[in-house]
Order: sequence, then C-alpha cells, then structure tokens
Amino acid sequence: MSPAPVIVVTGPSGAGKGTLIAELLRRLPQLEHSISATTRERRPGEQDGREYWFLTPEEFARRVRAGEFLEHVTYVSQRCYGTLRSELERIARGGRICVLELETEGALNIKRTVPGAVTIFISASVAELERRLKERATETHTEIGERLRLAHEQLEQAGEFDHVIVNDELEHAADELERVVRRELALAATIEP
Ligand code: 5GP
Repeated sequence: MSPAPVIVVTGPSGAGKGTLIAELLRRLPQLEHSISATTRERRPGEQDGREYWFLTPEEFARRVRAGEFLEHVTYVSQRCYGTLRSELERIARGGRICVLELETEGALNIKRTVPGAVTIFISASVAELERRLKERATETHTEIGERLRLAHEQLEQAGEFDHVIVNDELEHAADELERVVRRELALAATIEP
C-alpha cells in the first residue's frame, strides 16, 4: 500500500496558514495537525503539546543529533523549528492524514524527500501581511521587520509548490483549500494499489 499523503501548508508569516488549517481540520476530520517542536518563547495562550512542543535550544539540538526530526530549520532570530518523526507516526497510527504547517525551506525539504507530499503555498499581498503581523502584535518591532523581509523572499518561491492559494479573503481561501485537499486525497486514493 502506498503511504498516505502528507499535506504541507506553507507561506510567509501573517499569510493566515494557522487560521486556514484550523478551518480545514474542522471541515475534513480525517486530517490531523502535526505538532512541531520549537525553541521560540511561548506566546500568551499557547500550551506545550498543543501549539508546539516548546524545547530549550539544548534539548532541540539533542533531538537533532538523535535523528528525531524529519526536517528542521533555523528561522527568524535564531529560533529553531522542526517536524518530529514521532508526530507523523502517531498520526498514521490513528489512521489519519498528516497536515504540516511549515515555512518555505522546510516545505521544500519535505517536497524533495517525502514521496506523495502535497505542498500548498498560502499567499497574501505584502500590505496585508504587514497589517496582520502588526495586528497580531506577538512579535517585537525588530522581529516583525525580519519576518516581513523574509516574506518578500518567500513570496518569490510560490511557484515551486504544487498549489498557490491567495488569502486576502478568508472564506474564499478556506473554500479553495478544502477543494484542493479533497481533490488531492481523491487522486491519492485512486493511485493506491
Ligand atoms: P511562529 O513562530 O509564527 O509560530 O512560526 C514561524 C514559522 O515557522 C511559520 O511560518 C511556521 O509555519 C513555521 N514552522 C512551524 N513549525 C515548523 C516546523 O516544524 N518546521 C518548519 N520548517 N517550519 C515550521
């Protein structure tokens, strides 16, 4: 049997990946969000083991050395983020399909190394990204600047992914994401031997 596809949602900070994934999971309950590990600080309201596994840099490095990550990157302000192999195993054991939310470098890594991965780039105009990051107000001024600079670079990479969805209007983008994922899952089911 071919492995179940992995759905990868990527795009710049502020594109609304998290909100769109939450809506996608509500609509397609056979999907489950993989919980990444990170060394960044917890934001108000975030819980260990729910939004992320929050690790110290030492613990993160130990797990890298132990080969526990499928992919990992260093993102803004030297924060580490990574996908734990144990998360994918847990989701597969539960008979579910895994959804990963990654920045673009991690998403490209998965595209190269995981057969059958479906990569979806969530895009938005730079003005909209800036507005959302400022409204969210969870990063310092310097970090917002860094995330926006990176967003410019990431927007140029959109063409490297299987699908691009523009999220300037949430409901419309959520419908489009659902359509794309349903189509990919149906396609994967038909090519399963
Ligand atoms: P935030 O700090 O806003 O939660 O996340 C920053 C960026 O890291 C987002 O673009 C998010 O999608 C990405 N990210 C979260 N988890 C992972 C991961 O496990 N691997 C990679 N490559 N990126 C991740």
